[in-house]
Amino acid sequence: MKSLSQLLSSIPPSATLAVNDKAKAMQAAGQDVIALAGGDPDFATPPHIVQAMCAAIEAGHTHYPAPMIGVPEALAAIAAKIERDNGIRLEDPRRQIIITPGGKWALYLALTAVLNPGDEVLILEPHWVSYPPMVQLAGGAPVPVSLPAADNFRVTAALLKAKITPQTKAIMVNTPCNPTGRVLTRVELDAIAGVAQEADLYVIADEIYEKLVFDGRSHISIASLPGMAQRTLTMNGLTKSYAMTGWRLGWLVGPPEIIKLATKMNGQTVSCAATFTMYAAVAALNGPQDAIAVMRDAYQSRRDFMVAALNEIEGIECRTIEGAFYLFPRFTQTNKNSLELADTLLEEAQIAGTPGIAFGQSGERHVRFAISTAMSELERAVERLAKVMKAGLLAN
Ligand code: PMP
Ligand code: GLU
Repeated sequence: MKSLSQLLSSIPPSATLAVNDKAKAMQAAGQDVIALAGGDPDFATPPHIVQAMCAAIEAGHTHYPAPMIGVPEALAAIAAKIERDNGIRLEDPRRQIIITPGGKWALYLALTAVLNPGDEVLILEPHWVSYPPMVQLAGGAPVPVSLPAADNFRVTAALLKAKITPQTKAIMVNTPCNPTGRVLTRVELDAIAGVAQEADLYVIADEIYEKLVFDGRSHISIASLPGMAQRTLTMNGLTKSYAMTGWRLGWLVGPPEIIKLATKMNGQTVSCAATFTMYAAVAALNGPQDAIAVMRDAYQSRRDFMVAALNEIEGIECRTIEGAFYLFPRFTQTNKNSLELADTLLEEAQIAGTPGIAFGQSGERHVRFAISTAMSELERAVERLAKVMKAGLLAN
């Protein structure tokens, strides 16, 4: 047989999804695994959204949408949301939005639309697992910009400038950030915007955790800063805010000429998102928003509990988070690397976490725990962790 794709063979599988699958399989086999690996809200999708989708199916919205980028009602709902929540005013919504099967695909579309072979993309590290592979799949070269933990992963112009070369084409920005839980400040976003303008870079903004910001913080969209709309592609979706991971509904918003190329890519690959999910998006975006605050407050309480409880355990250091729903504790008294740590946790304590290395080199000695899991599960996880740490099982 002839050899298979070298590119795909060289790319690791998604660590978050792999550990998640392993934990679910262990649970199905009757093991008492606490699944903290994949970020999937434990809340149900709000009922009015479910009803809107059922009504759309019953009304016959079971064919290709027209236009393929999204039904007009959904495009209008997204345009209104973006103006209301994000301060981004689209001049021509029908040419500036594409609805996608999940936020992940929107990110990939953005990369395929702007990259040529060998173009470099700056990725703030620690970064979400899929950024470097996505850049590679789109023909680009990922360039990590390591953010120092000692400085609370603060982004500065100097850190970015140090990595810019004539090949640099774009920078990926994720706020609130998975896995660090940082919510970028106006000062940090101004620094990124300044560098992007000076070096003529595109910005791909991943705002999937936009609604999950704690302690009264605000989320700022980089596309709303002066001069940034024409070089920014903003990705968002329903996945995290509305507890809709399985629905696969996201979108990409940006300049018409880039969305045109993304539309071409969509048309030649997945065609479109599922039509009836677009009607669910209308209900989600135009309907009552109170479920979001309820979920956000629950994540904030879980954060308060977990950060305090983890810091009580000798050998674990855990920063607090400003948004999203992941903790990224560091194991301070171990010789194990993060893959070994995650494995030992799964074997000895039946806790599934994602190894820190999946988020870049600086994630070594860390394991990521998702707190999109019931408080009772988190309490059990802390008890088990305290036990294995005390027994020294994670030391060598
Ligand atoms: N960006 C980040 C940072 C994520 O954690 C995720 C995971 N859900 C996504 C994008 C993709 O979201 P979706 O499930 O909508 O594809
Ligand atoms: N984004 C979530 C995570 O980081 C879900 C898994 C994935 O899409 O990779 O855990």
